[in-house]
Amino acid sequence: MIPLRNSLPYDIVMNEVYAQQCPFCDRSHVLLPLKPEDVTDMYGGRRKIMLVFPCCHGSVRLVDADSDYLLANRPIRR
Ligand SMILES: [Zn+2]
Repeated sequence: MIPLRNSLPYDIVMNEVYAQQCPFCDRSHVLLPLKPEDVTDMYGGRRKIMLVFPCCHGSVRLVDADSDYLLANRPIRR
């Protein structure tokens, strides 16, 4: 069970993946360098991805995902 503090809410709009808010610089609605297929590949921890936010170059290792959240390997929420 991954704690909520490690979770990053996301939305898929027009086949693009957006973070609702960057956990590093607080920018909202950040277009992520991920495809929807990358996200579904992570369901259940089947794939892990190093994500670099384009807004501030903050990076986080994503280790799991579901239909609402990307899950990092460490706390990213304050
Ligand atoms: Zn940022």
